[in-house]
Amino acid sequence: MNEFSLIRRYFSRPPRRRDVLLGIGDDAAWLAPQPGSGLVVTVDTLIEAVHFPVGTAPGDIAHKALAVNLSDLAAMGAVPAWFTLALSLPSADDAWLRAFAADLFALADRFDVELVGGDTTRGDMSVTVQAMGFADQVLKRDGARAGQAIMVSGTLGDAALALARTQAGESVDARLSARLNRPEPRVALGRGLVGLAASAIDVSDGLYADLGHILAASGCGATVQLDALPRSEAFAAAAPDSAWALLGAGDDYELCFTVDTARLPEVHELAATIGVPVTRIGTTEAVPGLRCVGANGALVTVGTVGYDHFR
Ligand code: ADP
Ligand code: MG
Repeated sequence: MNEFSLIRRYFSRPPRRRDVLLGIGDDAAWLAPQPGSGLVVTVDTLIEAVHFPVGTAPGDIAHKALAVNLSDLAAMGAVPAWFTLALSLPSADDAWLRAFAADLFALADRFDVELVGGDTTRGDMSVTVQAMGFADQVLKRDGARAGQAIMVSGTLGDAALALARTQAGESVDARLSARLNRPEPRVALGRGLVGLAASAIDVSDGLYADLGHILAASGCGATVQLDALPRSEAFAAAAPDSAWALLGAGDDYELCFTVDTARLPEVHELAATIGVPVTRIGTTEAVPGLRCVGANGALVTVGTVGYDHFR
């Protein structure tokens, strides 16, 4: 199997979207963006042994590589449309590629995004996905103002707990490992928050770091209630007292956003309509910095911050 038959066999499919004038197979894709709408573009790389352990199931790698990019589009409030895939592999293994492609396209079809091109090389395993979508208005990090409610979708810490348990060689609840390997991008929530939320980010590096990005960009501060952080049943059962380990936990791929308190009913109505829970975890304030308050109301000093590749 050569490079071209590999691409044809695993990644080339009949066109699905009408806005793809020319997909895989030429020197570049030819796409028809929506007239009058902005193009939102994001890219993320997953490297073996850095972002996923050696031996991770190919379907999990494929799902995550696309999901983390869709999560970035969600955090902007964009409608996903297209993606490209740059794949570096040590060898062309049929079973691996088959499983990779199956789960890649399963997620792609669920969000109506089409693979329009890519690059295939031999080397250490890495997967780069670039995703593109449309928006005529976006959610940004710099829109938070003092006095807004700080909200988060879903639950926090599940993926980080699964990773810690896996690395320690312990058994992991299947619900927790699913959160690590199969994140669900909050695309519908992000769309619905456009024009409603004041600021938003997806929680990929841990709440403390990512909410910190909103506060820094917006020039304000916040207080977060540790006992308000949403935990899953599986998390509570496996780690009853670690509310605040959640702050530094990465890989949640939930949305964190701020909203004027007067508009909270609309947020809850949206969340109920799309079936994604949202929880208020604190309030933005004029004083810069992120303060965390424990159950007894006392300030808790948090030394944990998000993952940084170069620290
Ligand atoms: P070029 O040499 O002109 O850059 P390539 O030989 O790299 O073209 O790729 C041929 C075609 O296959 C292009 O349309 C490219 O976008 C597509 N392609 C290559 N690798 C992938 C991949 N992993 N997934 C999807 N499309 C791919
Ligand atoms: Mg090429």
